[in-house]
Amino acid sequence: MSARRRVIAGLVGALGMLSAPSRVFGAAPIGRRTLLDPKEPLAVSIAYVHDAKKVDVKQFPTYKRIQTCETCALIELGTAWQRGCSLVPGRLVMSTGWCKAWVARGR
Ligand code: SF4
Repeated sequence: MSARRRVIAGLVGALGMLSAPSRVFGAAPIGRRTLLDPKEPLAVSIAYVHDAKKVDVKQFPTYKRIQTCETCALIELGTAWQRGCSLVPGRLVMSTGWCKAWVARGR
């Protein structure tokens, strides 16, 4: 496991502990999940933005334009603009968004 994957796995585990109720009661139905607000602490902790075009490239110099939630391995498959992300259980992210935990989808 690469260092990057270990860091991401650690992040997923830590955030998963924050969402313990969703683990106890199961994933929230799609209709009850709320869109992650970039201003809330959870989103700030992962530098989430709704629009990947607004990523601060000075702060994240390794960011590439192809990196969006749509191309991330952690987003639910589908075509909806708002979808679940395994990094933030019970919440929705914009397919146009991005965060610093972005992981390339395997082929
Ligand atoms: Fe989730 Fe990936 Fe989007 Fe980050 S970039 S919010 S991990 S789907």
